[in-house]
Formats: sequence, C-alpha cells, structure tokens
Amino acid sequence: MIEENAEQRSDEPGVEAGEQDITTESDSSETPPDDAITWRAFLETTPPGVTLAIREIRVQQPGRFRSWKVYAPDSIFLYCGSDHCTGMRFFTRSSYRPPPELENDPVDFLLTYKCRNCEITEKRFAVHAWTEELYWGRAVKIGEYPPFGPQIPARLQRLVQQDRDLLMKGRRAESQGLGVGAFAYYRRIVEDNKDRVIDEIRRVAEKSKAPPELLQRLERARNMVQFSAAVEEIKDGVPEALLIEGHNPLTILHQALSQELHAGTDQECLELATSIRVVLTALADRTSRILKDEAELNQALKRILHRDK
Ligand SMILES: [Zn+2]
Repeated sequence: MIEENAEQRSDEPGVEAGEQDITTESDSSETPPDDAITWRAFLETTPPGVTLAIREIRVQQPGRFRSWKVYAPDSIFLYCGSDHCTGMRFFTRSSYRPPPELENDPVDFLLTYKCRNCEITEKRFAVHAWTEELYWGRAVKIGEYPPFGPQIPARLQRLVQQDRDLLMKGRRAESQGLGVGAFAYYRRIVEDNKDRVIDEIRRVAEKSKAPPELLQRLERARNMVQFSAAVEEIKDGVPEALLIEGHNPLTILHQALSQELHAGTDQECLELATSIRVVLTALADRTSRILKDEAELNQALKRILHRDK
C-alpha cells in the first residue's frame, strides 16, 4: 500500500500505439546533448525551476502547412493518491487542451493529465519551452499541481486533517533526505493529532463491539494532555484489527518519538521519520477500511431488511 519507486523507472519515451508519428528526416548536426531526456521523463521526474534539454521536443504535423507542435506524451506514469488507487498509475493527457505549436519563439503552455484508473486525480503542468535545433530544445516547469514531490495517500491526509500542510512539508523534507527536519514535522503531526487518532481508534473499537472497559480507557486517554500518558493508558487497549504485526501502533509511534533527536544523525532521524510515516499510513489505512466496511455492511443490511417489510 505504501507508495515508492516513483523514480526507478525506465527513461523510455512515452510512445504508445496510436501516438503520432515522429518525422524521421535526420540530420547529424542536430544531435541533442548527452544529458537530454524525453518529455515523459521530464514531466514525471523533474522539479519546477530546473531547465533541461529535451530530445524530440517537437513534431512536424502532416498536411499542407507542416507546422511544428510540442511532442507531449499521451500518457505518463505518476503517483495517484485517490482512495481507489493509492499507487503508481498511468495518467492520460486531456484532449481538450492539445500541445501548442513550437516554431522559432519560446512558448508557455499548460498540460493536463488524468489518472486512467480512477479518472479522478488530475495533474497540471505549466511549462516554458523553446527549440535549440530542429528536433531538440529545452524546457523548464513553471509549476505543477498537485505540487511536485512524493504524494500522500488521501486517507492519511484525512487522518491528520488540520496538519496537512505540515504533512506535505514533512514528506518533502523526507524525500530530500532532510532527516532532522522530516522527524520534527512528523513529531508535531503525531502530537497534534493525538485526540483525532484516539477518536478513530475508539470508533473502530465501538464498531467491533469492544468491551466497555476498553472504551472507557480510550475515553480517558483521549482526555489526557500528555501523549506519553495517553499511550500508557491504552497500551493494551487497541482493537486487534489495528495492531501492526501484533504491535500497538500508538506505542510504536511513541517509541519512535521518544528517541533523543539531538543525539541522532540526519540519517538516523530520516529512518525514524520514514518509520513514523509508514506506521501512520498503515493506521490510517486500517481505520478507514474498517469503518468503510462497516458502513457498507449497514447499508446492505438496511436494504435487505427494508425489502422484507
Ligand atoms: Zn487514480
């Protein structure tokens, strides 16, 4: 369920069946620089503000005017954070905004892609591009939305609602190897969201008909100010369905947070930060799945019982 490996993909151009033919007249003086990449690799892996050489930057249109157009790929491979996907998926270019002409002058343009699987998530790129030779040129992203960088599952964003911005910053710091920073952001998120997380655990406990004693402990923990005291109160009080490899997720989070930050190297902090995010994601996955299953079951029961009347 955890998203990874966004960058470990091949650099192949996004040429697929049905994509337009590239004009094949070749000219050896037009060889792009060695570090030139494809449009597809550029869109998928390059952050805004970085100018790169693009191979096959444009394609000549058939027909009378033989105009040149930006050779934007029909599909690219990106992370989709919707509840249906939560992983790497193909995104298809929206046809209502075709790539613009690219002749001698630089152009600014937008490209929009939509997840082919859920057809919900959209990705928009604003790009500035120009030609250097007949077939290759350079491009820089002016921006993209959702922002460049590792994306975060919708379920986790919902779990930490008011701290979504901190979560984004933490994830960005983590992806850039800024361990101390990522750890500090995640610590804030866990401590700020203690009440919300315990509320979600209590909802799961209620749905799974947990004994009243356990519900009372969750209630007490909810009202405790100190995170460590709350974790101690419910160290044996989490429904079995939420345990991660047999461990209480709150206890694991607390252990990760109690490590002495000042003593740790950036690398140690980074590893702890990643662990915190993975555990939080697993917890968000489990609570939302159990609560959703329960809601669906209730719906199904309602439909059957109504029919019997
Ligand atoms: Zn999707």
